[in-house]
Amino acid sequence: MALPEEMWQCQTQSCGYIYNPGKGDRKGKIEKSTGYEDLPDDWKCPVCGASKKAFRNLGTK
Ligand SMILES: [Zn+2]
Repeated sequence: MALPEEMWQCQTQSCGYIYNPGKGDRKGKIEKSTGYEDLPDDWKCPVCGASKKAFRNLGTK
């Protein structure tokens, strides 16, 4: 189970996808246990295609 500090949520309207390093991103060919910081800079939300800038860390408010 990943900690909130390791999870990032897409902030674009009506998306809400959460990147969970415990799952990775099969669509983006991201292996499990890949931290958000280690995602490539050109990684995009697998749901809406937003860039990493659109994501917010769930461990910080
Ligand atoms: Zn998204």
